[in-house]
Amino acid sequence: MERLKEILTKVNNVAVIGHVRPDGDCVGSCLGLRNYLELSAPELQVQVYLESFPESFGFLKGAETVSHDTADGNVYDLCIVLDASDKERLGGFAGYFDHAGKTVCIDHHVTNTGFAGLMHVRPECSATSEVLYTLMDDAYVDRQVAECLYMGIVHDTGVFKHSNTTRATMEIAGRLIEKGIPFSEIIDRTFYEKTYKQNQILGRALTESVQFMDGACIYSAVRQKDLDFYQVETKDLDGIIDQLRITKGVECAVFLYETSPQEFKVSMRSNNVVDVSRIAAFFGGGGHVRASGCTMTGSVYDVINNLSERIEMQLMDAGLR
Ligand code: 5GP
Ligand code: MN
Ligand code: MN
Repeated sequence: MERLKEILTKVNNVAVIGHVRPDGDCVGSCLGLRNYLELSAPELQVQVYLESFPESFGFLKGAETVSHDTADGNVYDLCIVLDASDKERLGGFAGYFDHAGKTVCIDHHVTNTGFAGLMHVRPECSATSEVLYTLMDDAYVDRQVAECLYMGIVHDTGVFKHSNTTRATMEIAGRLIEKGIPFSEIIDRTFYEKTYKQNQILGRALTESVQFMDGACIYSAVRQKDLDFYQVETKDLDGIIDQLRITKGVECAVFLYETSPQEFKVSMRSNNVVDVSRIAAFFGGGGHVRASGCTMTGSVYDVINNLSERIEMQLMDAGLR
């Protein structure tokens, strides 16, 4: 695919869906696409479906039109899936995908399983929002579209600092800035700003973090009782893994939060050598070389033991243990 319009022939209505527990790139790309189609193909009916997302993303145009309904009975000519590397990541919205006339997946995960009718996966891109921009006609990228895509890129690059940031990323971000977006505000309000409760749970997670393998690894776990105590939801935990990762001496950071008894959502980050996408994929998840995730069962110690075995194998291969 060279341009988005190629997939729109004979299409009257489109469902746009992202992945479960949507992050900044997921929400930014879904709303960016919605707003772009509104301008470039005004006759199209577009509905975005996403799980609930952080309130700080609510300023994006179209945020209020997002449906959380997993079965509204609508059937679409086309379903476009953004930022999701496998079908499981569609969660409750998979029905719209299954019943659509045709399906397209636009993504940037190396671990993408190729589950849609037409695949457009660009692992060299920092974010799905970056991939999307390359498929858009710049003439229809207005300030509101630019705000969405910029937010997506900011989140997946950790404000242009992760190793997935390239010259192309910066050039696209530059074009988006030229649309007149309040870029400092987008970065501060959606990425750095934390509520008091978010700071409290972050503090708790850092205080209880444990270093292992002589400090090459670090983990922290948040249980349901902690979420209840601080009155936070899982979407309030963004950023904890990054704080763990930048601990001096750490190569690989692991953050867990309890999703149900004996079940944990795992986030992994690495700095230089460990390919965490391989570890996540081994345990049924996926992601990128330096950032990935999966869901695992057992106690915290079972999960950490299982993960550390795989991490250590890679550290040994790299001659670091
Ligand atoms: P995070 O740790 O921020 O939740 O996710 C980091 C990266 O790993 C993201 O690119 C995300 O899409 C991917 N990822 C996280 N959890 C899963 C999972 O359970 N399955 C798959 N396939 N990818 C995941
Ligand atoms: Mn994502
Ligand atoms: Mn992404």
